[in-house]
Amino acid sequence: MRCLYCHSVIAAEPTLVSLFKRDEPLCLTCREKLTFKFPGERCGRCHQLVNKKTEVCSDCELLIGVYPHINKIYTVTDYNEETKMLMHRYKFVKDYALAEVLALLCSFSFKPYHAVVPIPVSTVRLKERTYNQTSAVLDVLGIKYAELLGTKKSKRQSDLTRHERLNSENPFYLKENVRADDFSGMNIVIIDDIYTTGTTVHQAAEIISTLNFQNIDVLTFSKTQHI
Ligand SMILES: [Zn+2]
Ligand SMILES: [Zn+2]
Repeated sequence: MRCLYCHSVIAAEPTLVSLFKRDEPLCLTCREKLTFKFPGERCGRCHQLVNKKTEVCSDCELLIGVYPHINKIYTVTDYNEETKMLMHRYKFVKDYALAEVLALLCSFSFKPYHAVVPIPVSTVRLKERTYNQTSAVLDVLGIKYAELLGTKKSKRQSDLTRHERLNSENPFYLKENVRADDFSGMNIVIIDDIYTTGTTVHQAAEIISTLNFQNIDVLTFSKTQHI
């Protein structure tokens, strides 16, 4: 057996449990490096590191003031050097196989949700990358999702400053055939790859809040921490 991420041979003999898993899992070292969480107190809503335990951090307060629709924000891993490298390879070097690695790390339970909505990528970006980095992971996981949103955005988020992101125009729109009646009272989770300022997912939630969802949560594969 070889590790899907570092390709080193995994020495352990297969156990009864591992026989039921994939042939190429992650070695323990990679799993630990890639599901890294900084120690410390967290915001009860977005899981940002905070000095003092709080229900809602100052980032959230600011965002809720403008975009009040998201309930909780979950993340698979904190953004560190290792995840930075993984995301770079996955998004910009177009190493599509890394969708498998992210899927293996994602122990999130989708069960409570009636609808799973990935953040879309623009047509320009999709042409360049050939896949949507978020829904590709859902495909590997076998999670059904609803592509309710389209986007006009083509500028890379990573090229924008924090100020530019927070003040950018909402780039999302509902796809034509999406009807509010179909989603009334449902529990939804929006999926994105990296949570930095939070602007992207909050703007997406703003658009889909018109669909009468009962609850909107967010899952990101990775979250930056500033402290
Ligand atoms: Zn490994
Ligand atoms: Zn927060």
